Amino acid sequence: MDELVHRENPSPNRDERTLSVSMVVLHYTGMQTGAEAEARLVDPAAKVSAHYLIHEDGEDVRLVPEEKRAWHAGRSYWRGISDVNSASIGIELVNPGHEWGYREFPEAQIEALIPLLHRIRQNWDIPRANVVGHSDVAPARKDDPGELFPWDLLARYNLALPVPKPSMRLLYDNPGAFYLALERFGYDIADGHAAVRAFQRRWRPGLIDGEIDGQIGGLLFELLLERDLGKAR
Ligand SMILES: [Zn+2]
Repeated sequence: MDELVHRENPSPNRDERTLSVSMVVLHYTGMQTGAEAEARLVDPAAKVSAHYLIHEDGEDVRLVPEEKRAWHAGRSYWRGISDVNSASIGIELVNPGHEWGYREFPEAQIEALIPLLHRIRQNWDIPRANVVGHSDVAPARKDDPGELFPWDLLARYNLALPVPKPSMRLLYDNPGAFYLALERFGYDIADGHAAVRAFQRRWRPGLIDGEIDGQIGGLLFELLLERDLGKAR
């Protein structure tokens, strides 16, 4: 046991990784209570798990050791990786989610997440660009952790990429050019509208309509530029 983990509740829903760890995927539980969510994440019949579950009061429960493959991402894709579970550490944050009354993540919960994420990023040398939400890796299926997740706070702690401040709006020549750039950044563009919604949820949560516009064009251009300059680590 270590000081960042308050309790162990080992989940049988795990197997062996076939890739090395290079990402973190953040989730909300999307169930009415934390107790219900925890029970499901250790239920062999549910066949789902994560490495950590953080309750709203900040209690951090370890369900699966980081060396093992937990089952949190489902059918997912990020930057060429389609077995996201093999390449990632999954963290579930208790929150009823969009279905049961989506609400702000309490301070205590985020205060527990920050040092844990810091340690994970250091131990596995994970680039900030690979600290992502479930909706980023499964845009057509998932909305979590959602637009209330405090990405800006994580960015201030150097745990996620900050939202860039593009100097201009940018309309790509055509939607295909935008989608190709979106794919180059990491997103699965099989469902283009869903991919744009996921991008907006993460980078411009004020307007999530799935439509390409000059503002998100400018953001994407800036993100790719910063990554090419090596600023994404
Ligand atoms: Zn999720």
